[in-house]
Amino acid sequence: MSSNFNPIRYSIITEKNPREILMLRGSGCKWRRCTFCDYHLDYSKDEAANYALNASHLAQVTGIYHKLEVINSGSIVDLDSNTLHLIRQTCIDKKIEELHFECHWMHRKELPAVISFFEGAGITVKVKIGVETFDAEYRESYLCKGIDETEPARIAQGFHEVCLLFGLDGQTVDSMRSDIETGLANFERVCVNLMVENTTRIKPNQKVLQNFLTELYPVYKDNERVDILIENTDFGVGKEQ
Ligand code: SF4
Repeated sequence: MSSNFNPIRYSIITEKNPREILMLRGSGCKWRRCTFCDYHLDYSKDEAANYALNASHLAQVTGIYHKLEVINSGSIVDLDSNTLHLIRQTCIDKKIEELHFECHWMHRKELPAVISFFEGAGITVKVKIGVETFDAEYRESYLCKGIDETEPARIAQGFHEVCLLFGLDGQTVDSMRSDIETGLANFERVCVNLMVENTTRIKPNQKVLQNFLTELYPVYKDNERVDILIENTDFGVGKEQ
């Protein structure tokens, strides 16, 4: 990812849980150690510049589905306060009833205050956590995800949706199926991301990807509670313009 990364930041998801989606910019992921990730490079320490950028894209929101997802390079708490206020005001103005955003495990104790900030305005909040796999040893030793809890039900406390990452060395059809089923049993929704080539040393395993596409994609592709991103830009944001 280059330093002058200029992605598409607004899109509309028309299938499965239809919603508008915005890719905003914050001060940067505070974890930054996930071995597979270079997404955290989309950040700036200039709060005023972030707010100006975020405001220009929040202005695109129409409220068409009364649901909005905001993502950024890390967690909701990495967004500046003016942006958070503008998200809330945009939800009020555009009659958005449900707001989705992401948060890393390390910020879970900060979440109740953020949720109350929005729910106080009558907006239902759904928080997504990237877990990638419920195999805790694999997750922490290979992916360095930074979740010091092994029990899925305890990880799920305070979160509503989970991201999983497939297409990695060592994953099997059984392990991926187990991850999806564990996700569905403990969270309202599951978002499967397939590993794509990026600037990190973690490379997609083509055989594992093929196994997923052949054996599991047909099983879950029509499940309303499962989003599957074959490319990480499939929600329409994140692609260079
Ligand atoms: S928490 Fe998210 S943004 Fe931060 S390094 Fe991990 S995957 Fe990347």
